Amino acid sequence: MTNQKIAELVHLARENKKKGNYQEAEIQLRTSLSIFEMIMKKDKEPQILVEYLTTKAEYYNLKAKVMLNPSDTPLKMRQNAIRSLECMEQARETIEREKLPNRENVEKNISNTLKNVIEVFGCVVPETENHYIFKCPIRNRNGFGISPSIVLKNPTCSICGKNPTNPEECSHIPGSEYDKEVCRILHKGIGLDHSALVRRPKDPRCFPIKIFMPKADMNKAFTEEELKIKERDKSPAFCHLCKKLKTVPDIDFRTFSKMQRLEEDDIKSSKSSKEMLISGYLLFADK
Ligand SMILES: [Zn+2]
Ligand SMILES: [Zn+2]
Repeated sequence: MTNQKIAELVHLARENKKKGNYQEAEIQLRTSLSIFEMIMKKDKEPQILVEYLTTKAEYYNLKAKVMLNPSDTPLKMRQNAIRSLECMEQARETIEREKLPNRENVEKNISNTLKNVIEVFGCVVPETENHYIFKCPIRNRNGFGISPSIVLKNPTCSICGKNPTNPEECSHIPGSEYDKEVCRILHKGIGLDHSALVRRPKDPRCFPIKIFMPKADMNKAFTEEELKIKERDKSPAFCHLCKKLKTVPDIDFRTFSKMQRLEEDDIKSSKSSKEMLISGYLLFADK
């Protein structure tokens, strides 16, 4: 640590945390952050910035885990967990940009904290006027996949160029050789007939990335009381499927924070319809 005073404070805070003296730990971390801020006014060393950000992450992480004030709600504690993650992500970006050591440590911390957040709080379901938008990849990957149905148009014989399905037009047999040339059926034109939601898609990468559920339908899952509280506290809806999965799969913070908020695209899509909408990956096999 760059500064003796800061190092002492952080050490004391950690000791106090272990002993359960959370109030003291909070004050010590907060004090060390203000010393950092004073130093950083003069010294713009990236290493100091990284140390500041990781200490700030530690501070918010404490506030995410322990109720320090009677006014702390689960929602506020969750916000602190997200702030902690944001600080770590900024630290990670600085380390990467400045080619500083210990990148792996920060990455591991991010991944552990994120798993913790998902296990405790689930994830936010962003909403517009018409829809709840499920973007949680853990949830969406766990339900249905998308299976495209493709129509091949205008079959043509590679030998004579006529319709091979009509024996009056073409007598060649696909796969057979004619004058050292193998007869094949060629299709001039491909059309997409429909996409189906299936339990097990042929290509497991074809999962929905966003599912827009009509609010009118989804709100039926809440009691009137719950809806009132939600409105009053301006609380978002939460997805609990990822929380229920005992092992949270690896997911990076950038993907996570993207799915936790509304994107411009979401607002546009939701405006155009009140129906259920699905936008999904249509990845085709490489071979
Ligand atoms: Zn033919
Ligand atoms: Zn989720």
